[in-house]
Amino acid sequence: MKPFAYVNAANEKDAVAALSKEYEKALPIGGGQDLLARLKDYVTQPDRVVNVKNLDATVTRVGGGLRIGSAMRMVDVAEHADIGRMYPAVAAAAIEVGTPQIRNQGTVGGNVNQRPRCWYFRNEEFVCYKKGGNRCFTPEGENQFHAIFGDGPSYIVHPSSLAVPFVAYDATFRLLSPRGERMVKAADYFTMPTKENVQRENVLEPDELLTHVILPAPGSLKSGHYEVRYKTSHDWPIAFATVLLTMNGSTVAGARVVMGAVAPVPWRAQAAEKALAGKAVTPQTAVAAAEAALQGAEPLSRNAYKVQVAKTAVERAILQAAGLPIA
Ligand SMILES: Cc1cc2nc3c(=O)[nH]c(=O)nc-3n(C[C@H](O)[C@H](O)[C@H](O)COP(=O)(O)OP(=O)(O)OC[C@H]3O[C@@H](n4cnc5c(N)ncnc54)[C@H](O)[C@@H]3O)c2cc1C
Repeated sequence: MKPFAYVNAANEKDAVAALSKEYEKALPIGGGQDLLARLKDYVTQPDRVVNVKNLDATVTRVGGGLRIGSAMRMVDVAEHADIGRMYPAVAAAAIEVGTPQIRNQGTVGGNVNQRPRCWYFRNEEFVCYKKGGNRCFTPEGENQFHAIFGDGPSYIVHPSSLAVPFVAYDATFRLLSPRGERMVKAADYFTMPTKENVQRENVLEPDELLTHVILPAPGSLKSGHYEVRYKTSHDWPIAFATVLLTMNGSTVAGARVVMGAVAPVPWRAQAAEKALAGKAVTPQTAVAAAEAALQGAEPLSRNAYKVQVAKTAVERAILQAAGLPIA
């Protein structure tokens, strides 16, 4: 890999001071599981790497919600009593990530900001849009794990499991740069690729850090989180869904349905939310909402199977949220 300078930042202020306004000149490192692989493969070649593991790694109460430090490890998210009780879908997403070793090492900041797992992006031989090239190799290529929503120009799927429940719970991200802090809703953080911003997956500036994730008071939300993968460990999901329900007696007063691994961003399915509103959750309404969630999907040449997989994930997350058995 290309040699780089290493800055061991003592706190968030030192960390942002060591970043750079120039894109990818200096990059933060959390657990390093994504960044180190990209460095070794010459996909990313910064001059400076800034350790951000000394940033806040705790959970604090704010209002009726929680504030999670970005240096918190995924194993600690998965095992935290308040996170599990108040935001079960966040804990469920954390516990399904990779393997115990990956969860022991990976941080919240690294998970949310990890780069796509597209094999063309990860291979130095393929200079795709995301690396400043002039094409995406996916439409004519090996696209079985790529997006079924979004219509390009890049067909990556967002790789973060935590991002999906963060969007569903309407989390806010605290971002810090030498200019100060700003708060951005998780739903506004992740960006769809356009010709102009195809290299990025979010609104983070090159000299900004994600320092905290703030989850609002959960109220009496019921939640379901369902992931489908080829094997039960050591793999990313093929498709998954977080579903949050606000119940009024036995009917749904409000729903949030967000899918993962189907689009370049966590993909909110408002048609499914509408299909659930005012109805009792039954196996039939869950199937109808899942059908609605996948309306408008545009699979590529080799990934039409993902439409059914995503439907199953949505249907099962709805049943789980309603406390109904999954057939
Ligand atoms: C076999 C395998 C299976 C996996 N399965 C899953 C899965 O199912 N779901 C899933 O979500 N992930 C999965 N992962 C990915 C793994 O969870 C991520 O690599 C990990 O979460 C990244 O965390 P990290 O702290 O190691 O990130 P790092 O490698 O340290 O950082 C990742 C990126 O985020 C940036 N970054 C780090 N911290 C910050 C910050 N505070 N602010 C802004 N930018 C920051 C870095 O510059 C880098 O670009 C899997 C990985 C492997 C190897």
